[in-house]
Amino acid sequence: MKLDVIAFGAHADDVELGCGGTILKLRALGYKTGVVALTRGEMATRGTAEIRAQEFAAAAQVMGLAVHKILDMPDGRVEEIWENKLKVIQEIRAFRPRIVFAPYWIARHPDHEKASRIVREAAYLAGLKRLDTDQEAHRPFKVIFYPTRFEFPPSFIVDTTNFHAKKLAALQAYKSQFDSLERISTRDKQYGTYIGVKYGEPFLVREALKIEDPVEFFGPEYLETIP
Ligand SMILES: [Zn+2]
Repeated sequence: MKLDVIAFGAHADDVELGCGGTILKLRALGYKTGVVALTRGEMATRGTAEIRAQEFAAAAQVMGLAVHKILDMPDGRVEEIWENKLKVIQEIRAFRPRIVFAPYWIARHPDHEKASRIVREAAYLAGLKRLDTDQEAHRPFKVIFYPTRFEFPPSFIVDTTNFHAKKLAALQAYKSQFDSLERISTRDKQYGTYIGVKYGEPFLVREALKIEDPVEFFGPEYLETIP
């Protein structure tokens, strides 16, 4: 199956927390979306690997994902080793996404930092024809980073106002992990104010963005109304 978008997380709930509203929005726009977690989350303080897998599946249903997968990297010990890069390369080649989402490379949890680098490198390496995995080479057009704990100056913010309630519903599937989703709503609300909407999710890309026609690009929605 071909996907338009794969969002990678180190753990089952990373994607929903960091960019769930955007993944839901992309689904609503007609794109085929998938989420791949690198670990089973067996080191989590609360919940077992089985419970987390069930919660992941329940969240995937709310998210309308075409694919949801859990890889078998050891939780808490995600390492930047070739074996792990190869696992991600194989997923990218299997689903041939245009866009890949990964956690921001500065994070509190070491797995998030390592997942960030593994996914970014794998997205590049997956395009090398001579790297043989018995699959066709494929390089996504762009790797886009979403936040976990630490903030960054966003390259862009996606308006997720119409998808925020569903994002919370997906997160509610992770019963073992969250007592309160208030922190998430507060953050999304804050980023929403930066672009003049109710809720937003911030993203970072490493490269400068190419714009053909700045006059066309900066339409009326960019009107400076905030003093
Ligand atoms: Zn995580």
